[in-house]
Amino acid sequence: MAEKPRFYDATITKIVSLSSTVKHFVLEYPKEADANFIAGQFMMVHLEKDGKPHKKPYSIASSPKLVKDKNQLELSIKLVDGGYVSTWFFGLKEGDKIHTSLPYGFFTVREPWTENIIFVGTGTGVAPLRGMIHKLYEQNCDKQIWLIFGNRHENEILYLDEWRALEKAHKNFHFIPTVSRPKEWKGETAYVQEIVKKTFAGKTEGLDFYGCGLVPMCQQLKSALIEMNIPKDKIHFEQFT
Ligand SMILES: Cc1cc2nc3c(=O)[nH]c(=O)nc-3n(C[C@H](O)[C@H](O)[C@H](O)COP(=O)(O)OP(=O)(O)OC[C@H]3O[C@@H](n4cnc5c(N)ncnc54)[C@H](O)[C@@H]3O)c2cc1C
Repeated sequence: MAEKPRFYDATITKIVSLSSTVKHFVLEYPKEADANFIAGQFMMVHLEKDGKPHKKPYSIASSPKLVKDKNQLELSIKLVDGGYVSTWFFGLKEGDKIHTSLPYGFFTVREPWTENIIFVGTGTGVAPLRGMIHKLYEQNCDKQIWLIFGNRHENEILYLDEWRALEKAHKNFHFIPTVSRPKEWKGETAYVQEIVKKTFAGKTEGLDFYGCGLVPMCQQLKSALIEMNIPKDKIHFEQFT
């Protein structure tokens, strides 16, 4: 059952540019706030638009450990051309306060882990996957974990150093970035659903899939997984609208 959302003001303590159109935000909650959530869930930001209350969902890009240690959580936000809330976010500075509520959603890793886990994301769709992956390693997950991460350009691969570090630190972490409009890029260039088909052809048993991104990508991935005979209860999605 859905947990009742809790409403708190948070202070933006850090803003980092991840690419020309994506920023990483660190939000800090007051000590007395219960900002806890399950990795993969999202929060809402509340603001005014044309004098009326307005809210938008954003996936939490960090694991709950950060909240427990420091009462902080992280977001990864794409500037959408002409978009009201993303443009508002990009105008915020460190020290600004925003009104939020959390937690929301059911896009979380199913436990206990009986299957190997495949995460598939495009763009800022990697945000909830990042929280889930960090959480799995905090729990010493011994399953094979894949991250198949699609972007248009090679300079848009969010958190690249982090994925490379995880690959070095954990033999069970497999990172497959793919770039659909390459310049110098020598790696994969197919869409994520094609990489999924190629990587898991004929080995569809014991796999649990978690996909996140814009609606068209999620729909194409879902069709590919159904075509591969992956059972429906092994396919989990969060669609950004
Ligand atoms: C559950 C959920 C979680 C979300 N988490 C995130 C997140 O972690 N990071 C994030 O940047 N956005 C996320 N979004 C999208 C976010 O809620 C807003 O839709 C987005 O910021 C655009 O809002 P806006 O007011 O700026 O633009 P609007 O004027 O509302 O523009 C909407 C348009 O932007 C497109 N769009 C929405 N999100 C993106 C995106 N991430 N990349 C490219 N195009 C997009 C939509 O397809 C639509 O065409 C999430 C959406 C949902 C439903």
